[in-house]
Amino acid sequence: MDYFLNFAKGDYVHGKRPDGCILCKLTRGDTDVSNLIVFCTARFGVSVNLYPFNPGHLLIFSLRHTEDLRTLSDEEQTELWQLRNYLLDMLDSVYQPHAYNVGVNMGLAAGASISHLHEHIIPRYPNEIGIPELMGGKRVLVEDPRKTCERLKSYYEDLPFSIRST
Ligand SMILES: [Zn+2]
Repeated sequence: MDYFLNFAKGDYVHGKRPDGCILCKLTRGDTDVSNLIVFCTARFGVSVNLYPFNPGHLLIFSLRHTEDLRTLSDEEQTELWQLRNYLLDMLDSVYQPHAYNVGVNMGLAAGASISHLHEHIIPRYPNEIGIPELMGGKRVLVEDPRKTCERLKSYYEDLPFSIRST
């Protein structure tokens, strides 16, 4: 736990986002988006959340633009499931959380500030403040997401997926 970060997601939700889809930009390597990608498989990217709820908060996003879980092919669904399992093992090893929230916000009214399909993996720790307080904009103690990215990049020697360069 190295840095205090201002929890600034409200700025993002309210219009300071770059033009176009931020996750498509991330996939293309556009320079105006912070690159927090840990690795990419054939069909998905794994990124540290720019505004993490907790250390190790990851996003899995499809490399193609889609907004609905039901559009994923059989191959994508299988890869997503395997990738999620792998990331849970990785986070167990690196951060030793006590629990997880795993889920997709599909649609703006469900809290999806980015329409491009992505799944959150949020490690949970004892004695943290709750997600409602975090979403309310409280300043929180978290790890710098760039440091999280570097820590996780150094982990994946045994990755069971082919990796695309990012
Ligand atoms: Zn997109």
